[in-house]
Amino acid sequence: STTRKPLMAGNWKMNLNHLEAIATTQKLAFALNDKDFDRVDVAVLPPFTDLRSVQTLIDGDRLRILYGAQDLSQQDAGAYTGEISGAMLAKLGCTFVVIGHSERRQYHREDDDVVNAKVQAAYRNSLTPILCVGEGLEVRRAGGQVAHSVSQLDGALRKVPAEQVRSIVLAYEPVWAIGTGEVATPADAQEVCSALRSRLAELYDGEVAAAVRILYGGSVKSDNVAGIMAQPDVDGALVGGASLDPGEFAKICRFSE
Ligand code: PEP
Repeated sequence: STTRKPLMAGNWKMNLNHLEAIATTQKLAFALNDKDFDRVDVAVLPPFTDLRSVQTLIDGDRLRILYGAQDLSQQDAGAYTGEISGAMLAKLGCTFVVIGHSERRQYHREDDDVVNAKVQAAYRNSLTPILCVGEGLEVRRAGGQVAHSVSQLDGALRKVPAEQVRSIVLAYEPVWAIGTGEVATPADAQEVCSALRSRLAELYDGEVAAAVRILYGGSVKSDNVAGIMAQPDVDGALVGGASLDPGEFAKICRFSE
């Protein structure tokens, strides 16, 4: 990962109201310095209802923290009660949008077709997808983690051209490691991340494969991040629980110290 700038993205999930979001983002900014931001991209992924407040803080104080949403609609506007469009997120200054998180696949039955439609919706609106893939425990026990994750990648990228996909962020998140305290070993993370990169080279070309950042996600903490970041095909982390503590998340962002 010599040419790829690492990305540390904090997935807040359904935590922190807009007031708590401001306090947390301020504390995170205070804990990081310009050198940190030169070395690593740092992003927060708050609930929708926090985004306007986070935007106002980050713009007003010229913070170098990036931000994005945790989901978007596959439509751009219309009679879709309760949905949020990519256009709305772009207007709020979002850089990223998480797509295909295992909690959406599990609790909202999002399949590869829905994920693919959301990837296309993100690109239509100039948002960078953070596309999540990863296997559950049964698939892992049967040794199917590479085939499963590559198949989810194939499904998500149907009809997505090279000029778009070169900017995508992938996140390998083994479901059995999310929120469980059970972190994958660095070798486990590297195995699937390198397989995803090889698949990008097959679907597109080597240049696209070399440009794409691939994150690991699943119980990342400041005391296990260094080993994961030392893997050649791991370019950052998608951090859930540990990103709610700005001091801890800042430590994760300074993974090599
Ligand atoms: C996540 O939900 O993306 C995640 C990685 O969660 P946690 O870090 O809490 O396992």
